[in-house]
Amino acid sequence: SLFRHASFEISVAQPSGLPLPEGAEIAFAGRSNSGKSSAINTLVGHTRLAFVSKTPGRTQLINVFRMRNGAALVDLPGYGYAQVPLAVRLQWQGLLEHYLTCRSNLVGLVLIMDSRRPLTELDWKMIGWFGPTGRPIHCLLTKSDKLTRQEQAKTLRETRAALADFGEQVTVQMFSSLKKTGMEEAEQVIGGWLNG
Ligand code: GDP
Repeated sequence: SLFRHASFEISVAQPSGLPLPEGAEIAFAGRSNSGKSSAINTLVGHTRLAFVSKTPGRTQLINVFRMRNGAALVDLPGYGYAQVPLAVRLQWQGLLEHYLTCRSNLVGLVLIMDSRRPLTELDWKMIGWFGPTGRPIHCLLTKSDKLTRQEQAKTLRETRAALADFGEQVTVQMFSSLKKTGMEEAEQVIGGWLNG
């Protein structure tokens, strides 16, 4: 599969420290506790690949993984820690905005959201920054195992409706790291960015 055998390459403190923009890059972004690390681990097939500091206020690093086809998977720091001072959060948002709008080799954004509360204000900010690049955004609604089938269907319908203005640029799916569901769909969509 696409992500198997991705290997850790580097952790950097700021987007400016990222490797040269060679090879396609896929960014993973999401609120803290959205299940981003779990989703990356699930997709890549090993644990402890995406090691994220769980201590609020500690420097959060950007982790870069390299896939065998040369593409990079960029795990952006989780956003929205209430405990982090506002000034620090705003500085990070500036860096994220710059990265999402200016990174030349960024082919798509995977937006990780807890399926029980998708599309928070900060998620909309990410969409607002990356949307104008015209590049695709794939939303993974994580922890789907915590919802009934009916709730999943309703959440998918409502989230897609909320994003309908973006047309085919934005896609939405359910995902569970616990149950390992949604992996094929995610790989198909993200793989399409690399081949297309
Ligand atoms: P991150 O902060 O976004 O990287 O989130 P984590 O991947 O560390 O997950 C946050 C919490 O949600 C942890 O307690 C995980 O065990 C839990 N979690 C993550 N993914 C799932 C999932 O698919 N199902 C369930 N039930 N819990 C999950």
